Amino acid sequence: MIPKHPATPDDDSQENDNFTSSKPEIQPDKPEEACGVFGVYAPEEDVAKLTYFGLYALQHRGQESAGIATFAGEQVHLHKEMGLVSQVFNEAILKELPGAIAVGHTRYSTTGSSRKVNAQPAVVDTRLGKLALAHNGNLVNVTQLREELLQQNCNLVTTTDSEMIALAIAQEINAGKDWLAGCIQACSRCQGAFSLVIGTPVGLIGIRDPNGIRPLVIGTLGSNPARYVLASETCALDIIGANYLRDVQPGELVWITEDSLTSQQWSQQPQRKLCIFEMIYFARPDSIMHNESLYSYRMRLGQQLAQESPADADIVIGVPDSGVPAAIGFSQASGIPYVEGLIKNRYVGRTFIQPTQSMRESGIRMKLNPLKDVLYGKRVVIVDDSIVRGTTSRKLVKTLREAGALEVHMRISSPPVTHPCFYGIDTDSQEQLIAATKSVEEITKQLEVDSLAYLSWEGMLTATREDPQSFCSACFTGDYPIPVPEPIKRTKLMFEKVAV
Ligand code: SF4
Repeated sequence: MIPKHPATPDDDSQENDNFTSSKPEIQPDKPEEACGVFGVYAPEEDVAKLTYFGLYALQHRGQESAGIATFAGEQVHLHKEMGLVSQVFNEAILKELPGAIAVGHTRYSTTGSSRKVNAQPAVVDTRLGKLALAHNGNLVNVTQLREELLQQNCNLVTTTDSEMIALAIAQEINAGKDWLAGCIQACSRCQGAFSLVIGTPVGLIGIRDPNGIRPLVIGTLGSNPARYVLASETCALDIIGANYLRDVQPGELVWITEDSLTSQQWSQQPQRKLCIFEMIYFARPDSIMHNESLYSYRMRLGQQLAQESPADADIVIGVPDSGVPAAIGFSQASGIPYVEGLIKNRYVGRTFIQPTQSMRESGIRMKLNPLKDVLYGKRVVIVDDSIVRGTTSRKLVKTLREAGALEVHMRISSPPVTHPCFYGIDTDSQEQLIAATKSVEEITKQLEVDSLAYLSWEGMLTATREDPQSFCSACFTGDYPIPVPEPIKRTKLMFEKVAV
């Protein structure tokens, strides 16, 4: 049987896919997260509403589109649209999503364009019923997988690797396998990063790739009987009152039915390589990894940074919001008082309206405004979590000087980003990464700071208090844990300038 997309009223095709969005002209100078995933099996609960709030907590992982699919027995109800979770759903829409099982997704595109047709969950038909799949990560063998699927006459509707995974599962099931064997066989055809939540008419499935590059956690809701929840981060459990149970392990599949959760290792060679950038920046500071909040880890990064690269200064400030925990840590270790020097406008999302020329010249003040009386006449240490292109950092330094800062010393709580990511994070191509082409001295001049220092790679890993081998840190080293095929590498790497 050839897997086909169901023709639901919510579906659209490439022909009628007229709701597209472009990336804003003012790009944040940060790597962009790929996606957030969420799933719940709770027959007596309003699963669509639980999923809505789960996605709401995961909004930082993707702001381009959002979607929820629910299962009421064999019937699938789906709503997905471009926009923020709060824009895509309302009470009336959630009421149209009944059922006992729900799968949700919030997306930032790293493969496939930013269009409604590429929004998730991806829903496909199988001989056992429909499946709805939500994916966080990026496959690196998309060319080969696409070829395989096309050769077997699969109906590829979107341009995403996530749809390919869904179709590969459907193909295996249609060849005679059951849900679990079909998922395992399809996943063994995939290379790259994938944390998956898959809804079926009879149960909910969670799967992590053999390296566990992207996070995926299990939570429990209530106690008698306990209901299970899957989510990218623990902050999505907190918001619905679920308790963190444990992580889905690298190479593990969990199968959640009405009364149980069972687990199996589907990969013969699981080897944990969690993305270190999840800990430094992507995941929310109130999410738990390794039994502590990421806020605590990020404070330790700041402490380590102060020990490695002290500065003679009057105040420490952080770049809101992500640089703040490390700035507090820097202050604690250095004894230099921490103060707020930049105020962030927290009440606006991403804007797709282009600013005027004069606004553009005023640069980052749309988002960050300096506290002049705090900064005036001070020697300032400004702490941020990373520098990607350096464009925002330069404007920020200018803003601090215009506000009266006497000296600006920049400290970065991660090493220089020198390599692009192929596993689900948008870090630009290598030539756009400032540290790939410039030395720290050159960056210091370009940003017009009095001094600049990055945290060491060793310091970053030591602060995790975990086995350093259990992390991917390829964007700092070029040491990619999952081999990246040459044609894909060539799209982002400058072979002539940097040896890998
Ligand atoms: S390359 Fe960097 S951003 Fe990508 S998974 Fe590895 S550590 Fe994370």
